[in-house]
Amino acid sequence: MKPPLSGHVRWEAARPLEAYRACRLCPRRCGVDRMAAVHSGKTGFCGETDQLRVAHVGPHFGEEPPVSGRKGSGAVFFSGCTLRCTFCQNHQISRGGQGEAVSLEHLWERVKEMIRGDQVHNLNLVTPDHFLPHALTLVARQRAEGLDVPVVFNLSGYQSPEWLDMAGSGADIYLPDFKYGDARLAARLSSCGEYPETALDAISEMVRQKGFLDTFSSGAEIAKKGVLVRHLILPGYVQNSMDALSSLFLEFGKDLPLSLMSQYYPVVKHKDARLNRTLTHAEFHQVYAHVRALGFRNLFVQFPEKTRRRAAVPPALVPDFRKAAPFG
Ligand code: SF4
Repeated sequence: MKPPLSGHVRWEAARPLEAYRACRLCPRRCGVDRMAAVHSGKTGFCGETDQLRVAHVGPHFGEEPPVSGRKGSGAVFFSGCTLRCTFCQNHQISRGGQGEAVSLEHLWERVKEMIRGDQVHNLNLVTPDHFLPHALTLVARQRAEGLDVPVVFNLSGYQSPEWLDMAGSGADIYLPDFKYGDARLAARLSSCGEYPETALDAISEMVRQKGFLDTFSSGAEIAKKGVLVRHLILPGYVQNSMDALSSLFLEFGKDLPLSLMSQYYPVVKHKDARLNRTLTHAEFHQVYAHVRALGFRNLFVQFPEKTRRRAAVPPALVPDFRKAAPFG
């Protein structure tokens, strides 16, 4: 049985890393002492200790246009994940352990260089959940030094209210996924049967804090604030997508900024044969037609490539984090 949710997560600027002791940062609420984990070997579901680990830092062009813009989004890809989906497109870092241990000082130097060189539109923290104390310290440092670019929290959607209370002071933009309408599928692929309701609550809180992504109302090219929700269509699971999108519509209405993604690629071999292929055009268009019928109007749509991809050729958006430039 999980410990109670309330009163367990704290982030104090003076002692930011204390939250790793009896860690309840994410809704898994493992309660393990990550500060002792380097020696004890006992980690929680995410598999991470209190040692900050990062797989890549650099300008990234794979986000939606208001986030990547022309210069790119200043991405920090954290190693590990609290959701660990079997189909993760960043499998090497979410499940495979890829990444290097870095000090916060070293990470800050790399981030500072990226922002000061006017190379990027924002700082984009990708899956910072389990390293939130480090992430917030990084953002505090950025603001203290006057490097005024928006901060993007790029998330799985699986966040607790307490986590979002803490993250709210650091985030300007939330980019959450909403992966599942089907709780049984969420249990099978992400060990998380409560994902649909947890993620809907989390996105509601994100919208309460930041509103919808501002570019749709301001007409600006680059986003400064707000929420954009993403949904990746899984091959063979069209009904899951339709249910997820219906839930989003019922909760937030047609103005919710939404990104519909078709880029799924089988990064690893799956027992579930449906996940060993890419999306068909028929599947994509079935889901896309549903999005249009619901009336979503603030949309980014990733149309499938015209030529069907061969399994031997990963698309450009599937990274290889063993390389200095993972996205080619
Ligand atoms: S961040 Fe990791 S250790 Fe902490 S509660 Fe979540 S899965 Fe468990």
